[in-house]
Amino acid sequence: MTSLTWVLILALALTATAFTRHRLQTRRDAAALNHTIKQLRHNLETAIAASKENSARWQAAGNALLEVILFVDTNLNVRFGSPGAEDLFGMMPDTDVSLVSYTRSEELEQFCQEALAADSLEEPLENLEEPLEWQTQIHERTFRVRAQTFEGGTALALTDVSRLQYLDQARRDLVANISHELRTPLTAIRLLLETLESREHPAETSSALENIMVETETLQHMAQELLDISRIESGRASVKLVSTELTPLVKTAINRFRPQAERNAILLRYDALPETPVLADQDQLHRALGNVLHNAIKFSPENSLVNVRATTEDEQVRIDVLDSGPGIPTPDLPRIFERFYRGDRSRHGAGTGLGLAIAKHVIQAHGGTIWAENTPSGGTQISLTLIRADAT
Ligand code: ATP
Ligand code: MG
Repeated sequence: MTSLTWVLILALALTATAFTRHRLQTRRDAAALNHTIKQLRHNLETAIAASKENSARWQAAGNALLEVILFVDTNLNVRFGSPGAEDLFGMMPDTDVSLVSYTRSEELEQFCQEALAADSLEEPLENLEEPLEWQTQIHERTFRVRAQTFEGGTALALTDVSRLQYLDQARRDLVANISHELRTPLTAIRLLLETLESREHPAETSSALENIMVETETLQHMAQELLDISRIESGRASVKLVSTELTPLVKTAINRFRPQAERNAILLRYDALPETPVLADQDQLHRALGNVLHNAIKFSPENSLVNVRATTEDEQVRIDVLDSGPGIPTPDLPRIFERFYRGDRSRHGAGTGLGLAIAKHVIQAHGGTIWAENTPSGGTQISLTLIRADAT
């Protein structure tokens, strides 16, 4: 064989080897591709099943909810309405329908626009992370509307609060009527007691009369609080702020509680008070301070001290009422200013849970703040601020 023949044989052998390698590689690639496709199909099937389950879950939640749910896109077209929406606004059309033509409520549309605008702010305000809330009338019913924006639109949840409003009004009327009706007979009982107490009696009768007087005062306090809260709730409790000297104001409030403190063997004291005028509505402020002092005396043990102190701070005056009672459990601290909130009843005496709610309303109407803390020695400190009249 010639050398050319050898070269040809070698070239053929090399080509055959390369071809075989290439076929093997292609087969392996095809197998890998097949595996990947199978994996993808499996993943897709799992995702579809999860999505179906999720959608069924939301459908069931929508059916179970008493709220009406609407999903509105950024063009203000309704994309979804829960079954409740159909009851309220009628059948959802198949094609896109604008929020205003479906609900006939321009207020809802405006609210939705506001929610979207708030969401698109470059630096959203802190509280906008919370859903926005609003009230509106639809078909003579009151709905509380909450809006939560998401990428692509807004979810609106409408809750019918008409019945709640009706019950709230009924409660307010009841409170106003009861407090009003209670005051007259209680005043009469108190006058009779005072007349009886001014006469000579055997020790046993005197002690019974004293007990009746204490109970009557408690009832009078409750009736007054109910009347105060019904005035606040009906918006009739406006304050008229005038420049008032702090020292006589606080002293008068304290002196009113001396008899109660003495009966409970409590020493009611005040530190030197600053000679500063504050913006105050005397009657209302006496009520607020009175409720705080009433608590301090009520919750303190016999032979203990209730101390009042006041300090000036820039444009404000701060008043602290400190007692040596059991203090307030930490979980109760943020709640004690709520209406009708009472702490552990086994630890404390009678009350309606309105005293601090009224005090908070009054102090806020004075432009001040009120808060509670526990003292290092375990008692309670209620602090409040008022605006100085000489600093404005
Ligand atoms: P009311 O004032 O209507 O007669 P109340 O005293 O229970 O009833 P608030 O004055 O509003 O209601 O006080 C709410 C709750 O806060 C009380 O029930 C009590 O648990 C707690 N609290 C308030 N002041 C004190 C205090 N000085 N010491 C301990 N607990 C207090
Ligand atoms: Mg009280």
